[in-house]
Amino acid sequence: MYSISEKIRISKKALLEKSVFLNNEIIPAATVKFICCDCSHENRVEIIPHQSGFPILQIYNEDKVLPKNELLKHEIVTTTSPGMLHFGELTVNQLPTLYFGTHCKTCYSKYICVFGYGEKQPGMTILQISGIWKYEEIQ
Ligand SMILES: [Zn+2]
Repeated sequence: MYSISEKIRISKKALLEKSVFLNNEIIPAATVKFICCDCSHENRVEIIPHQSGFPILQIYNEDKVLPKNELLKHEIVTTTSPGMLHFGELTVNQLPTLYFGTHCKTCYSKYICVFGYGEKQPGMTILQISGIWKYEEIQ
C-alpha cells in the first residue's frame, strides 16, 4: 500500500468480490479481494480504518496525479453535494474519501483503490470501495 505521486493513466477496472463493508466487517480490517485484469490472480488487500489510505485530494490537487474530470469520467468519485463539502469536492458516497496504490502479487501490474469511509448515520459505519483500477504511469 503506497501513495502515488506521478501522473497516471487509468486503465481497466478489476473485478471486486465485495465493495461495501459495514460495522463489524471493518473491525479490525476489511479484507478486499480483487482479480488482476492481466493475469487473473486473486489479490487480497487489508484496509485498516484510520490507518490505510491517503486523502483523494492528493490525486486531483493541481492535476498532480489525475485531473478531476478523469476521476469523474471513470466514475471513481462523484461530485460532493453542497451540504457535505467538508469531506472534499469529490467523494465516494458522500463520505471522507481515501485512496492507495497497490500491485498484483504475481505480475506486478499497478492498481489504485479508492474508498469512502465514515459514519453514514448514527450506528452505521460504512467502508465503500468505488473500485480498483489498473493504472500506468505517464512518462
Ligand atoms: Zn496480475
